[in-house]
Amino acid sequence: MVALIDWLAKLPIGCCWVCQQSLLVGEHGGFCQPCLRDLPRLPPSCLRWRCQQPELAVGRYWFSALSWQPEVAQLVHRFKFHGATELAAILAPLLAAQARHCYRLRPHQWPDLLVAMPITRKRWFERGYNQAALLGQQLQPLLQIPFAPGLLRRLPQQGKQQHRSGAGERWHNMANSMHCTRSVEGLTIALVDDVLTTGASVSAAADALLRRGAKAVDAWTLAYTEPHQPREPML
Ligand SMILES: [Zn+2]
Repeated sequence: MVALIDWLAKLPIGCCWVCQQSLLVGEHGGFCQPCLRDLPRLPPSCLRWRCQQPELAVGRYWFSALSWQPEVAQLVHRFKFHGATELAAILAPLLAAQARHCYRLRPHQWPDLLVAMPITRKRWFERGYNQAALLGQQLQPLLQIPFAPGLLRRLPQQGKQQHRSGAGERWHNMANSMHCTRSVEGLTIALVDDVLTTGASVSAAADALLRRGAKAVDAWTLAYTEPHQPREPML
């Protein structure tokens, strides 16, 4: 019996999303044990994100689960641009765990509502899905917070794609590009996205939510790029 259990434990059950090696029984969550251990996790800290309009900066914290290292860039690239939608279920628990850590000392500030960073209709038709919304769907049961997938809408954008734009151009493009479809009076909202780069998208989305009465907006992202790091992968 022990031999049978040992044999079963050595059976591969899929591949690790980082190193592509076969996973063994007991290696859950899409990563082999070494890769899961070595993921570049960020400490459970928070930083007030930049806001273009300081008078609206009642938005509070952003949290990110992972640093923008090559293995994380590869994961996000496949999730966002190559249809690997199953990564939502694999990556969301990392973000959920980080959120729990970050709010441990602030339980009274736990969000009332999850909102996904929207993409334009054009981008949705090209990609077939919104990766931030897939994360939100996964986070809802993990964290027991209601999710409002269509609350924010993104208006058509002029000029280059956001991930190809420079920082200054991003801020300019994003201003007033978000629309909140209903009142969120008095709600504390967690805005979910895959990557935080300049903060332009987050700021524009938070502004739209605050204009419709949100009490506070936090930003949760899978990964955070330091200013010196390369931005999201380009196609
Ligand atoms: Zn691995």
